[in-house]
Amino acid sequence: MVNQDEYGNLFGKWQIGEDTWCITNRWQNFIYLLIGEEKAMLIDTGSGEGNLRDFVENITDKPIMVVNTHGHFDHTGGNSCWPDAWMKKEAVEYAKEPFSPLHQEWFESKPYPDYQIHELSDGEIIDLGGRKVEVIAIGAHSEGSIALLDYNLRALFTGDEIESGQVLWFVRDRPLPVKEIAAIHKRNMEKLLTYRKKYDWIWPSHNGVPLLPDPYLEDYIALDQQIIDGVAKVAENTGGLGFPTETQKAGGPFAEYGNLTRAEYRRASVIYSEEGYEYRRKK
Ligand SMILES: [Zn+2]
Repeated sequence: MVNQDEYGNLFGKWQIGEDTWCITNRWQNFIYLLIGEEKAMLIDTGSGEGNLRDFVENITDKPIMVVNTHGHFDHTGGNSCWPDAWMKKEAVEYAKEPFSPLHQEWFESKPYPDYQIHELSDGEIIDLGGRKVEVIAIGAHSEGSIALLDYNLRALFTGDEIESGQVLWFVRDRPLPVKEIAAIHKRNMEKLLTYRKKYDWIWPSHNGVPLLPDPYLEDYIALDQQIIDGVAKVAENTGGLGFPTETQKAGGPFAEYGNLTRAEYRRASVIYSEEGYEYRRKK
């Protein structure tokens, strides 16, 4: 069972720095393992497929601290392999809400579905032993999003708030008008720029890693401003890498969010719902 999900797919891993691994599942969710002298930080846990704990414990024998970039279930599903997880306060509410009955099954088959959640705060520094990681609050895609800045590797892990495919803005726990989300996202990107001397690469959770920081931050800030000003270029088709149009049709996982729009500028792309459709909780 080690290294396989329920379909027989393998987890994959590759080393991206000293004592640092990127782990991925069949959906190419990128999970990161940062190994310090005292403990290791696991950034996100996938959707709960397979036995992530066994897989991780084959890489390191250090105690694992699970940290979630935000509370969406494709980042928290595997948390139930461990008794504790750390995340920002706003992520707690929806961190245990599976996207499907299959996710629920995976989640409940692990030893700690009632795992304890500990809250992280903006600016907090986590010491892994000879390796410090700073928590930077950047919630826009999701209210509880954080970036994690690894001083040693000079790497910034950004969850779903920056990526090469598209940043989804319609999956917030509490919907907002698109211009308000754009303003929040822009402030967050500018906040990451203030830390710019401390990292060389950005490592998102989906759709291609790593990203060169300056072009992406610059393009996302420009796109956010264009959306605020009502002049952003809208794509004819909402489909993209990791976000096929099939998923938006009736019966697909994104069909319930109403009419979606893709706005683009150079390397930046966001998808939003004009109707500000409320993210439907499963329970
Ligand atoms: Zn997300």
